[in-house]
Amino acid sequence: MSSPNKPEVAPAANFIRNIVEADLAAGKHAQRHWAGQPGTAADHAAAPLDAAKLRTRFPPEPNGYLHFGHAKSILLNFGLAQQYGGRCHLRFDDTNPEKEDQEYVDSIIDAVKWLGCSWEKDGESNLYYASNYFDWMLQCAEALISAGHAYVDSQSADEMRTNRGTLTQPGKNSPFRDRSVAENIDLFKRMQAGEFADGQHILRAKIDMAAPNINLRDPAIYRIRHATHHNTGDKYCVYPMYTFAHPIEDALENITHSICTLEFEDQRPFYDWLLERLAEAGLLQRPLPQQIEFSRLNLTYVVLSKRKLIQLVDEKHVDGWDDPRMPTLVGARRRGYSADGFRLFMERVGVTKNDSLIDYVLFEDAMREVMNESDQRRIAVLDPVKLIIDNYPAGQVEECFAPNHPLHPELGQRSIPFSRELWIEGEDFMEVPSKGFRRLFPGNMARLRYGYVVECTGCDKDADGKVIAVHCNYLPETKSGTPGADSVKVKGNLHWVSAAHAYQAEIRLFERLFKVPAPGARREGDAPELERDFLDDLNPESKQTIVAQLEPCLKDAKPEERFQFERHGYFIADRIDSKDGQPVFNRAVTLKDSWGKAA
Ligand code: ATP
Ligand code: MG
Repeated sequence: MSSPNKPEVAPAANFIRNIVEADLAAGKHAQRHWAGQPGTAADHAAAPLDAAKLRTRFPPEPNGYLHFGHAKSILLNFGLAQQYGGRCHLRFDDTNPEKEDQEYVDSIIDAVKWLGCSWEKDGESNLYYASNYFDWMLQCAEALISAGHAYVDSQSADEMRTNRGTLTQPGKNSPFRDRSVAENIDLFKRMQAGEFADGQHILRAKIDMAAPNINLRDPAIYRIRHATHHNTGDKYCVYPMYTFAHPIEDALENITHSICTLEFEDQRPFYDWLLERLAEAGLLQRPLPQQIEFSRLNLTYVVLSKRKLIQLVDEKHVDGWDDPRMPTLVGARRRGYSADGFRLFMERVGVTKNDSLIDYVLFEDAMREVMNESDQRRIAVLDPVKLIIDNYPAGQVEECFAPNHPLHPELGQRSIPFSRELWIEGEDFMEVPSKGFRRLFPGNMARLRYGYVVECTGCDKDADGKVIAVHCNYLPETKSGTPGADSVKVKGNLHWVSAAHAYQAEIRLFERLFKVPAPGARREGDAPELERDFLDDLNPESKQTIVAQLEPCLKDAKPEERFQFERHGYFIADRIDSKDGQPVFNRAVTLKDSWGKAA
């Protein structure tokens, strides 16, 4: 639904968009060819020019569920492709044999789609698995060896570590560094053939053991690992290192802008070195992809480290990866957060090279803003107390009408049954009103929203003095939408549902999972020896399940339908636990405005 009220997600300038625009203006990538699928320079050269003006990629390792930080990278990469007439690839970086799992692959695909991103465009499907490139990677490794740019090292892991040097001291050359090309080729072939044990030899790039950047001190590029890979099985027993595999994957896929987070900045010289050597050898097409780093997303009240998220799930501090309190994308979806809300939030956070901690309130505000625009209104009483209208005929039912969306009259209105007994919020009645309280107390008049003005006459209490029913009389001439509606002026306004018609449902209310902005971080005044554990900062009251009374039509809500419950916030019908005709709801976020306080 497009509308003039839709929150604007106008693309703002940022340093990456500036780079892309400059490259496009200079025609930097205009002469690239594209074989319709990944390939070497020869494969691409024989094919037509690439119709995509640029290519980006999102390259997750399928070893966990995606979190809010990944959403930043996804929206950035797919967003650039969409904005500038390019393509964005979804590439599973599954070169590490030990950690991958189909469950993660499936959940990543779902999450990317849920965010509204697509790797399919103009008949091209750019979904790739890096493990399909292993033969090309071996070819690249052998090309490096042949050109004298790589050698098989047979030092032990300890010796290699010692000889690497430190930040202040240069490293020492390996005694195996000057092996002949023929010997290196022979050893590398035998590594591939499975003649050696894990760790017995390793293939290293031959760059400079005295380089100030430690990543250039002959980095390892291929290691022996006798392990079964989920895609290639036992076909290989040597596997490429990530820092070797990743640039090659980018180049094979014709990626123009390879965007990653800042911790890879020190790897960029190796990224460039490697691709240059392989382009020189004629294996990779020019112009080569350019690595660009940006700062990762950090949010208050949230942990975004895979290790910590795994711990939360494994130790059962949450109900699973898709627990609505988890900062995972499966969790966000279940919670009822909106994909458009993510888009608005990320656009506002922007893309920079400075590390920063973003306030969770900014995230929630973006969600509210999007949902306020998109979600229809419904009525829910979360803490029900009976309201009995003593002068309203028992057994009589009449219709009241409520707009579905105050910003969208075109969405019409719905009929809500009104009768003698209603549910109202417990907090909307006070036997002895506090100062400024304007809703129901004996002798006071208030409006039942979309219905009548009522005058409160008193209440019934149980033996403990707890209010079990509130009594009132209604003023028949004051029905909303009739000429007499304004004949009596009142200040309080409350929502209600007819007790005989209400849909009684389970509702889950969530608070932040952590009590403090930086879970596990040291705080001012901490003793020097004190080490904090992020688990100690868990909020024990982050989830509350209640039974609420909802307006009758909510019984028909389909899983993942979301509404604004007036005064209470945005709620979604849970996609897992809802049964047909029996939805249960999760609160995504409360309303920003202080309805409760004002009335
Ligand atoms: P790990 O390295 O522990 O496996 P990861 O979060 O880096 O975890 P990847 O699967 O490698 O996992 O991430 C895929 C992409 O998402 C990478 O390009 C990475 O830079 C990006 N990414 C991960 N976390 C964030 C974050 N907090 N903010 C922005 N981008 C992120
Ligand atoms: Mg990673």
